Amino acid sequence: MRPERLNPLFALATSLAGVGPKQDKLLRYLLDRNETPRLVDLLLHLPASVIDRRARPKIRDVAVGTVVTLEVTVDRHRPSPPGRSRAPYLVYASDDTGDVVLTFFRAQPGYVEKLLPVGETRYVSGTAQMFDGTLQIVHPDRVVDEAGFAKLSLIEPVYPLTEGLALGSLRRAIAQALQKLPQLPEWIAADVLRRCSFPSFAEALNRVHIPKDLTDILPDAPFWSRLAYDELLAGQLALALVRAQLRRPAGARHAGGGHLRHKIIDALPYALTTSQQQAAAAIADDLTQPLRMLRLLQGDVGSGKTVVALLAAAAVAEVGKQSALMAPTEILARQHLKTIAPLAEQAGVRVAILTGREKGRERRDILARLADGEIDLLVGTHALIQDDVVYKALALAIVDEQHRFGVRERLALTDKGDAVDVLVLSATPIPRTLVLTYFGDMDISELREKPAGRQPIDTRAMPANRLSEVMDGIGRALKDGKRAYWICPLVEESENIDFLTDAEQRFASLQERFRDRVGLVHGKMKGADKDRVMGQFASGEISLLVATTVVEVGVDVPQATIMVIENAERFGLAQLHQLRGRIGRGSEASTCLLLYREPLGEMSKARLKVIRETTDGFQIAEEDLKLRGEGDVLGTRQSGLPGYRIARPEVHGQLIAQARNEALRILKDNPKLKGAEGEALRCLLYLFERDEAIPLLGAG
Ligand code: ADP
Ligand code: MG
Repeated sequence: MRPERLNPLFALATSLAGVGPKQDKLLRYLLDRNETPRLVDLLLHLPASVIDRRARPKIRDVAVGTVVTLEVTVDRHRPSPPGRSRAPYLVYASDDTGDVVLTFFRAQPGYVEKLLPVGETRYVSGTAQMFDGTLQIVHPDRVVDEAGFAKLSLIEPVYPLTEGLALGSLRRAIAQALQKLPQLPEWIAADVLRRCSFPSFAEALNRVHIPKDLTDILPDAPFWSRLAYDELLAGQLALALVRAQLRRPAGARHAGGGHLRHKIIDALPYALTTSQQQAAAAIADDLTQPLRMLRLLQGDVGSGKTVVALLAAAAVAEVGKQSALMAPTEILARQHLKTIAPLAEQAGVRVAILTGREKGRERRDILARLADGEIDLLVGTHALIQDDVVYKALALAIVDEQHRFGVRERLALTDKGDAVDVLVLSATPIPRTLVLTYFGDMDISELREKPAGRQPIDTRAMPANRLSEVMDGIGRALKDGKRAYWICPLVEESENIDFLTDAEQRFASLQERFRDRVGLVHGKMKGADKDRVMGQFASGEISLLVATTVVEVGVDVPQATIMVIENAERFGLAQLHQLRGRIGRGSEASTCLLLYREPLGEMSKARLKVIRETTDGFQIAEEDLKLRGEGDVLGTRQSGLPGYRIARPEVHGQLIAQARNEALRILKDNPKLKGAEGEALRCLLYLFERDEAIPLLGAG
């Protein structure tokens, strides 16, 4: 149960003045929520910059192009001449050093007359411009009288917005939400507060939304940092609570003697790399320990994680228990099945797939076999955690590309068995600090070597105006029997833009030239259609595949040796690396062409350079973090940590480790979150939506 004192913060944004259905829709989009945002969501939407209205020069001293606040006397009005409503409405004003013209386009005359009465003194704030040799302010942002000026905030926060949402209306909503902030207990321990010089939660929120100084809103200032720490602490605490549940009942062992694993290894057409062997051994060891397994298997795309996962499932099958392998997309789930099924069959490990596509009779049949223990390994998507999916003896949950799933989904899967072990597969090599934020305290295995026989990838960047050359090159390659991906970015999703146009148009133009050798896959297609096209590409029926980023994860067509990425400058480093990982998987040399649109920004330039120079995912991850750190200096917008709104790895890296240590300390001293400290921490978990961990506290 949510503590009652939090209720005001969980009121819906639509309860605020000025927030109606239209704003609701925009706010959902802005704050990335499926439901109407609550006041707490508004409060945790932090400013990106500020407008400084503190400059109050005399008219004579105004610096053109800057924001100024002038104290003026209104001299006369010149409304738009009748019949020429396009001409601006001008108001002439002055102080004892000069004149200024206040310009209004399409103004209601009555409105301007009331706003700026002739003969009165007014405070006018806006950007100063020069027009025809006269100082002007076009549509001043603020016009107030003496009393209004006393209340005017001279440093105004500017928030990230979305199209159609006015800054003023967001600001008013946030200001109202601040008013409703209840008295909250302090959840940060006194010594941490002192050591980090953190303000209280309320003060932190007040100062970022009502800054007194330009630096108040910076991510490394104490106010933002405090909120980042709160967010990190909530995350770490939730993870630690989950982790604390992970004791295995005495006597339960989830790995057998190895008879199935040996059969699989014998059936492999290749030898396992040393790191694959080490990972498999570490997992087998975990499966027999009294503590449940929580292990992350990291490895670049193509490093061979799937077979390691299969060996884990086989170890579990050796003692007659079951495993589930959950992938984020249907394509990826089917891909896994394709790799796994032939090997599993040779060893007698029984495998099935369950996604949204298996329906009716087929689905019922799978569920029946699962409940009877006739399936050893069930591969699938989210469908695996639906309520009616019941396992006879689930012992191992393998989750691929975990950071797309939340703790909630992980719990839902592990809840379907007793003392379920967890193996997470990630193709995004994550630096240690970030592992902590996503997964908490996990054991890690890394697959650092590439399987033998892999060819290097030749990566080049070129401007988009060389497109026709690229097309010619593709033409020659297809003639030689090669297969190629052609990747188009998703145009940033906005209500008015159909984000598929890029890929669809490119598909059309490539089809004109290469006829029926071209196929198209994108995320909006039905699963069956996607698979059909992917299948055609895998079999060589088509040889050029136009795709959006749906091919980013896991797709495995070793014969594909060419990849063209359009608008490569729009992709992040990790994503480029993932995409490129689709090629260079077979024994032939591969080429990746990064087409970019000029002019290239500094960040994009740096990113393309990194991706050209290395294919080592771990190195790319490090560079990515560095570049994003520098992104701050360059003033580019951060993407931050998925799942985290406030904390930023490059600014708050230190706080991650602190929050983790603190979470461990708390669970040691107060494992059931009792007393005043416990109550305060529960508030924290609710505020940052980590309350899914709270029911665990009651579970014995
Ligand atoms: P990941 O999931 O890590 O991206 P996969 O498990 O899909 O990689 O493996 C990519 C490809 O490499 C698959 O076709 C797989 O059969 C093959 N493979 C895996 N391990 C080895 C190995 N040790 N030697 C050669 N090929 C391997
Ligand atoms: Mg994979």
